[in-house]
Amino acid sequence: MRNFLVDKFPRYFKPVFTIGTIRKKRLFSFLFAFFLTLLIAKAIEATLVVQIPVFGFHDIVNIQDTKKNLLSLQSEVKSDYYQQDLEAFLENLVRDKYWFISTQELYDYYLSKPHKPLPPEHRHQKKVMITFDDGYKSVYTNLLPILEKLENKYGKKVKVVLFINPGFIGRRGKILDKANCQELREGFQKGFYDLQSHGLNHENLTTIPIKALDRELGQAQIQLRKCTQGLDPNGIVGSHIAYPYGAVNKEVDKYVSRYYLSGYLYNSVSLKLGFFGVNRYRIPRLTANKKHSVQRLTTMAAGGWLRGLIRSKFKVIE
Ligand SMILES: [Zn+2]
Repeated sequence: MRNFLVDKFPRYFKPVFTIGTIRKKRLFSFLFAFFLTLLIAKAIEATLVVQIPVFGFHDIVNIQDTKKNLLSLQSEVKSDYYQQDLEAFLENLVRDKYWFISTQELYDYYLSKPHKPLPPEHRHQKKVMITFDDGYKSVYTNLLPILEKLENKYGKKVKVVLFINPGFIGRRGKILDKANCQELREGFQKGFYDLQSHGLNHENLTTIPIKALDRELGQAQIQLRKCTQGLDPNGIVGSHIAYPYGAVNKEVDKYVSRYYLSGYLYNSVSLKLGFFGVNRYRIPRLTANKKHSVQRLTTMAAGGWLRGLIRSKFKVIE
């Protein structure tokens, strides 16, 4: 009788669980548990770990200029970013009440031992650092006007860090010119520029002889401070460095600490200040170029969507 029924209605007599479905279910449960654990870990990290994204830009180009006649030249400069997009990104951060932290502030409040207590007005604020390498003329022609515009619109001063090669100040380049000393002084005097070192002549510090290394580090500081003479009584200019090409090693470490309080990399990593802190001569920076949309940069500034969501719902002390 059973055989008859099995033959007649086979689908009713199929076993509910085959070895295959059990394996699939187990795999599904494992993956679910894995992603849930990951999500919880990320949520805990978002609540406990202070994150200060440090963005590394280079040249800033006007989209109109690029369309007109500079397209062929500009397309060679892969690290640049559009002025219009930069304005939209910075405006998002201003509207979201970010604190545009300077190199000295990051050092004072997070890196020095012991560090200074965080001023109460910044305690619940989201933090970000915006940096520009190589001291191109566009930090004056295309960036400064954005910063002034935002100040007029929102009454807020956006401070940006410029990592300068003092050996090239005011030089004309084949494709891109460098800002001159007067332009750097103007942005500094207006309170927008945090002027720091990028080595004297943009040499790879890990490949040059010791004597040249010492000169690249020391002379960069002297010349940068010469340019801002009379404007910087506390000697903050040239106290921090971004390594050219992000290149640094133990040998460089020995010399860099003679002149500088902190050093910045260029490695597409976000700065996280966990329980053990961070090596102040290996501060990571996020690369920013035309491949990054305004929305993507804004999400990166918030430390990703999950962190952004958690921090928008809860007041977390940084
Ligand atoms: Zn550079």
